[in-house]
Amino acid sequence: MVKKKVVIIGATGSIGDSTLKIIEKHRESFEVIGIIANSNVKKLAKIAIDFDVKHVAILNENYYQDLRDLLKNRNTKIYAGNKGCLEVASLRSDITVSAAVGIQGLMPTICAIKNTKRLALANKESMICAGEIINKIACEYNTEIFPIDSEHNAIYQIIHNKNEYISKVILTASGGPFLNKTYEELKNVTPKEATTHPNWQMGKKVTVDTATLINKGLELIEAYQLFKFNSKQLDAIIHPQSFVHAIIDFEDGTSMMQMYKPHMTIPISYALGYPHRLTTDFSNLNLKEMGQLIFKEIDETKFPGFKLSKEVLNTEEQSHMIAFNVANEFAVSQFLDSKIKFLDIPKLIENILENAEIIKIEQLEDIIYYENHIITKCMELVNKIDYTSNIIN
Ligand code: MG
Repeated sequence: MVKKKVVIIGATGSIGDSTLKIIEKHRESFEVIGIIANSNVKKLAKIAIDFDVKHVAILNENYYQDLRDLLKNRNTKIYAGNKGCLEVASLRSDITVSAAVGIQGLMPTICAIKNTKRLALANKESMICAGEIINKIACEYNTEIFPIDSEHNAIYQIIHNKNEYISKVILTASGGPFLNKTYEELKNVTPKEATTHPNWQMGKKVTVDTATLINKGLELIEAYQLFKFNSKQLDAIIHPQSFVHAIIDFEDGTSMMQMYKPHMTIPISYALGYPHRLTTDFSNLNLKEMGQLIFKEIDETKFPGFKLSKEVLNTEEQSHMIAFNVANEFAVSQFLDSKIKFLDIPKLIENILENAEIIKIEQLEDIIYYENHIITKCMELVNKIDYTSNIIN
């Protein structure tokens, strides 16, 4: 059996971990030919050794020599910096997993689409900021896009890109770590509390996004971009158990949902194995044990970032989606560095959106220009924050 060649962008993160565990279990079917990481040099080198990877790239050039030392006397080609990462992302592969964090994953994702047969997409920020461009390139290069994000993977499994007879698409949200806190209690939550998720094991940035519920808003935009739904078709609901991942309502009164125990192994396995279903270590849900499924409405007063994301979605304006995403990435990094408070995250985004002009996004350069413009605006804004009152002036 010919092994499928796999490249992993973001190999040392949580999606990388899950992907490698699946490949470890199915070594007869897959061969990892390239891996890319940001700065976790020891873990990257260990993966390179464990999976005998021939092309290894580290984004942070300061670790280039360390990586060379860790992989000396091996038949491994080592790359560093932006250019090096793009070279590895451009390797010819059967499947490339795109799992970098944030908009920095955009260029590697574009390189991957041009050189792989199947893009397994976890880097939602690329799709949010460049949906139309990505879809166009994927079409031109005949590359399949398989979403790994659990909700979008669920939609994909139910409709297989056939956007027909659908009246509503509902994404489920666990509600994150602060579902049962009051708005008052949210004022002083710490980065540590916001990076501990009750159901899912994920990276820091996405865990903070689930705590603000902005993750769900980003996912509504991601679904809009991936499947070309119109904004009115999309909604989200709280489902604290995280067993159901998405629900599709069809025009004939039928609804379909997809269920499994909350672990990223399952959607990644689907993206790696399709059209086959790979065995995993997870059993199916036991409905008798589960007893009941719980759903409730999202409290938009407590989670204003979610409300903002819906307003952005409803404009169907690409530049607003970029502004929303970039402002959120900026605000989350500031919060993780304890420079702003938790409730400043949606306030900063709201301020940016209030003054964001609409610009035409036709090519990648437009995105990069606009991203830099919004970052400058964010920096100006963050200097005005009064930390004691927890309000952006
Ligand atoms: Mg998700």
